[in-house]
Amino acid sequence: MNDYRNERESMVKNQIKARGIKDKRVLQAMKSVPRHLFLPAEARKYAYGDSPIRIGSGQTISQPYIVALMTELLEVHDDHRVLDVGTGSGYQAAILAELAAEVHSIERHTALAERAEETLKNLGYDQVHVHIGDGTKGYPSASPYDRIIVAASAPKVPGPLLNQLADGGRLVLPVGSRFSQHLEIWDREGEDFRKSSSIPVVFVPLIGDQGWEE
Ligand code: SAH
Repeated sequence: MNDYRNERESMVKNQIKARGIKDKRVLQAMKSVPRHLFLPAEARKYAYGDSPIRIGSGQTISQPYIVALMTELLEVHDDHRVLDVGTGSGYQAAILAELAAEVHSIERHTALAERAEETLKNLGYDQVHVHIGDGTKGYPSASPYDRIIVAASAPKVPGPLLNQLADGGRLVLPVGSRFSQHLEIWDREGEDFRKSSSIPVVFVPLIGDQGWEE
């Protein structure tokens, strides 16, 4: 069976390193996680292409470069506890699991959450816990989190996510209109929150109490 090792190597070299991602742990994680196994069988051959891919329920897995960029911006350490909002295929959660101590991942579509949970379990990612629910409210029972990442776009940063950040914590998410956004990086120091902005992006909408209406 094709393990796509060569495709993964060239994805990291041509799409990720070539565009300026330098963090060695991020590059290693992107080389290690078998992205094709997070996709429906008929889409596996496209897994290492330079684009987002449909994963069912009207959702997409992000382009590899965007996963790498957001993960690099997140600056994950190996003792961190991380919240991943918008589990989708579970791929981003697996990348985080390569870098952190514990990952909580929350998804509003039951079918996607169940499939992602099974994929992650089959690959031995026991440090990832998948939850079903509205991630715009975070996942309070396992908070605070050292890092929070959101893979769907919000009209503005959801307050509950800022509240569930640990002191010294960081949140990375796309914020903007329904059709175009910028990546925002929020850092917490005590009760102070500092925001900076990164590149323009296009994500599927974050739907829920502190997001968009369905
Ligand atoms: N990180 C994913 C990308 C998923 S796309 C991956 O690696 O495959 C964004 C996901 O966010 C979709 O699956 C969508 O259903 C989910 N989503 C949208 N609004 C949400 C909400 N309020 N809470 C949890 N998940 C949400």
